[in-house]
Amino acid sequence: MDAENPLRALPPVQRLLDGPEAMALSARHGREAVKAALRQVLEEARRTLPALPMAGRQSDQAFVAQARDLLDLRARPSLRRVINATGIVLHTNLGRAPLAAEALAAAEEAGAGYSNLEFDLGTGRRGSRTQGIEPLLQELAGSEAALAVNNGAGAILLALSALAQGGEVIVSRGELVEIGGGFRIPDVIRQGGAKLVEVGSTNRTRITDYAGAIGPDTRVLLKVHQSNYRIHGFTEEAGIEALSSLARERGLALVVDLGSGLVRCEPGLAEPSLAETLAAGADIVTCSGDKLLGGPQAGLILGREDLMAPIRRHPLLRALRLDKLTLAALEATLRLHRDSPDRIPVMRMLRQTAAEISARASRLAELVGAGEVIGTEGFTGGGSLPGEGRPSAALAFDPACGAVEVARRLREGDHPVVGRIAGDRLLIDLMAVSDEELPRLACALVLALA
Ligand SMILES: *Cc1c(COP(=O)(O)O)cnc(C)c1O
Repeated sequence: MDAENPLRALPPVQRLLDGPEAMALSARHGREAVKAALRQVLEEARRTLPALPMAGRQSDQAFVAQARDLLDLRARPSLRRVINATGIVLHTNLGRAPLAAEALAAAEEAGAGYSNLEFDLGTGRRGSRTQGIEPLLQELAGSEAALAVNNGAGAILLALSALAQGGEVIVSRGELVEIGGGFRIPDVIRQGGAKLVEVGSTNRTRITDYAGAIGPDTRVLLKVHQSNYRIHGFTEEAGIEALSSLARERGLALVVDLGSGLVRCEPGLAEPSLAETLAAGADIVTCSGDKLLGGPQAGLILGREDLMAPIRRHPLLRALRLDKLTLAALEATLRLHRDSPDRIPVMRMLRQTAAEISARASRLAELVGAGEVIGTEGFTGGGSLPGEGRPSAALAFDPACGAVEVARRLREGDHPVVGRIAGDRLLIDLMAVSDEELPRLACALVLALA
């Protein structure tokens, strides 16, 4: 009879709900949620059964198991921890900089209760949101004043809106860059109400080009660091020192969008630092918090106190202001730059030697019992040091089912891993993998290779 009408084989929800497996599920997810999940599973079975008559022979346990999978999936956060085996330290799609333990602890402490976010505990009056980061940035980068907003793009938008005041901003044609995701510097400038005046050519811009373009409406000279590209060959650009003298002479502000936010010069990282850019004469410098600074997503504005005043008063600041969790994590990261930079994951990763990474790859090979340790080229990423590889090491696999298939299984596993495909090999690059992640990575690999 069931074979003639498979729908009759479907059990009633109540019977499933009263079974021991569903009772255990209810203790975890709540009875109503389990009931709803069971209904959904039965509904799905009702829809597919006429096409697949034999599927009607499922046991009660099988239906409950499907409901359990559904509930587990629903309970899983959409933003999940991923192991970054791409060999790119600041991978924008994977969330850029992982935070230091101290930064996470600071965010937790700030978020668990109330805080003196905008409250001066000494006077009992309203305080400033950036009271914590300002002295740190003074000490670390020698900036008179500092402000933090949501991200690097916000920092440029706010600084230019406040300083150009609808006037002209002069920028080199070689620096009209797209910073990723389709966002372009010229659009950010125009959005801020400023008029863009382009000077020079893509490959060569001289200081005289800037000087010749200055008019009565000019307010700002803007220099954008070539962070995610390089122009090679017959090139020329005006340096910060020359632009600074010109700006001073003509009563303009020199704004430098540095992008990556390297706090101080670092051996092996040929990027201009915040400190040296300010020392060279930039009036205002902007950068991201989650690139080489190694902190949370944020945008920093550093520089002269007299220029910071109109920036602080600009209405956009309210729209771009940082949340307390981020602010706490940012301050803790800056403190680490001062006291113990090696505790910042990004700094630690970029200071590793190729031998150290290779040793980690060997340890992983032992745990997995497969793979070949090879030398690779890793990258800083996040728009820093474009095209400049860093010596790294990977565990390479030539799986029988294909590298693409194993890469897919790794991405879709319980502990997602993102690796790299090179030719028909799967590379698990160890540059951006921490020692603590090795056991979990090994587990994921064993499962995906099985
Ligand atoms: C990354 C970058 C930005 C954008 O910073 P976000 O924090 O991603 O908004 C702007 N300018 C330069 C030069 C950059 O490298």
